[in-house]
Amino acid sequence: MSDEGADHLPAPPLRRALGGSGIMVSPLAWGMWRLTAGNNTLAEVSRLVEGVLDAGITLFDTADIYGFTGMAGFGAAEALLGEVLAAAPGLRARMVLSTKAGIRPPFPYDQSPAYLARALEASLRRLRVETIDLFHIHRPDLLTHPQEVAKTLDAAVAAGKIRALGVSNFTPHQLAALQHFLGTRLAVTQPEISPLRIACFDNGELDQAMMLGLTPLAWSPLGGGRLLAPQTGREREIAGALDLVAREAGVSRATAAYGWLMAHPAGIIPIIGSQQPARIAEALAARPMRWTRRGWYEVFAAARGEKLP
Ligand code: NAP
Repeated sequence: MSDEGADHLPAPPLRRALGGSGIMVSPLAWGMWRLTAGNNTLAEVSRLVEGVLDAGITLFDTADIYGFTGMAGFGAAEALLGEVLAAAPGLRARMVLSTKAGIRPPFPYDQSPAYLARALEASLRRLRVETIDLFHIHRPDLLTHPQEVAKTLDAAVAAGKIRALGVSNFTPHQLAALQHFLGTRLAVTQPEISPLRIACFDNGELDQAMMLGLTPLAWSPLGGGRLLAPQTGREREIAGALDLVAREAGVSRATAAYGWLMAHPAGIIPIIGSQQPARIAEALAARPMRWTRRGWYEVFAAARGEKLP
């Protein structure tokens, strides 16, 4: 290694753009999927939201289905955030608010024009906002033609109800079909990405994101916490490869995992799933991490479970 510096990948920027939307956000996001899991009081949730903002995280990710238990609770996470925003209206301007719709239990997906338009209105009402900064289709509805979905979304953008559009859990072909009919450029794609879930690195999803200028948001960047409690041989190998880099950089394994995602040239924004303020704040140490190609590929090879050809 004659020139160690040249071997390092660039550090991620302090702020990232959401595609071509002109919206700038922190390089990590915070997710509210697990927000309603406990019995949090409004005061506790308000403190948590303020703590996340104070830590420097500006992109807040929720969905209409977060809080749904299988029986009840549809809209609960959005409603809780809406209460926080109503109690402290100054918070709204400090965050870039992302939500999702299109899953409608028990069908399970519905993006028909009437339903999708109603779902958007319901999200706006629960969140108590006039505009959603980033609106995702949560999972593709195989029974709605993408032209219909595009019409509903374009109309909502034109009406000022949505600033930027995203899709989640779409294949590259599904994304391309929707973009074909949309007048608005998609800004975001949100697949599951973590060292435990590396499909998007070579199934075309990240290549398409780079080609179209979409910002990838990574859901479950720690594999839902499994990375911190590895069960299988493969999971332990991945954890070990991350630990090697983490020790050298003086960060935790979780932080190294975020950093590993952020080092990819597609500009991945990991969505932190933790609801613990200390863990959320600690995650920001991933931003200045400098990965070597060797360190990065060692984690990738462990994730593949075989030596790279
Ligand atoms: P994750 O970061 O992979 O997992 C978070 C879980 O790991 C929490 O239960 C957390 O517990 C636990 N954990 C254990 N040790 C931790 C450590 N050292 N540091 C941080 N967390 C640790 O993310 P996720 O919650 O599964 O997903 C993140 C976000 O992605 C969601 O909130 C949501 O916004 C989004 N998401 C999107 C989709 C989609 O289909 N688009 C699907 C799932 C999730 P503590 O809270 O106790 O720290």
